[in-house]
Amino acid sequence: MGEELYCEMCGTLIRGKPFKALVDGAEMILCATCYNKLMKSGRALPAPERKIEPKKVEKVKKTSKPIDQLEIIEGFGEEIRKGREAKGWTQAVLAQKLRISEAMLKKIESEKIKPSLDLAKRIEQILKIKILQPVEFDEGEEKGSSIDNVTFGDVVFVRRDED
Ligand SMILES: [Zn+2]
Repeated sequence: MGEELYCEMCGTLIRGKPFKALVDGAEMILCATCYNKLMKSGRALPAPERKIEPKKVEKVKKTSKPIDQLEIIEGFGEEIRKGREAKGWTQAVLAQKLRISEAMLKKIESEKIKPSLDLAKRIEQILKIKILQPVEFDEGEEKGSSIDNVTFGDVVFVRRDED
């Protein structure tokens, strides 16, 4: 390697082995003359032998966790009914508190319809129940896999006339 190194103290071309020293806490490459001078004066300390590190890159940990993705739990209707009954409220009373129609609440409790996330949050607050949960992303298992959706109409029978 024909790399030329210059003394970082006096600027002369270093012939032979460069010296490394800590000068006022900073690592410097020095010629033998400067190195000896600084070591004697006590200004320099022998540099600890170590690999030259590239500047530290602060790595910000990125969490891959999705934020605030909520879904309504299974059996939410039952939870709502139990929560409502624990309060001693009729459907009419709860519907009024939620500012929805009684008919709609009936449909929600019988799980004919799912409440919106907004409404679900209000239900949670009013009844002090939990019907929302964070969405879990299962990478191994895809929901809505098409296998179950195959109907006979989709299956193509190839007729072979070769026999
Ligand atoms: Zn020098």
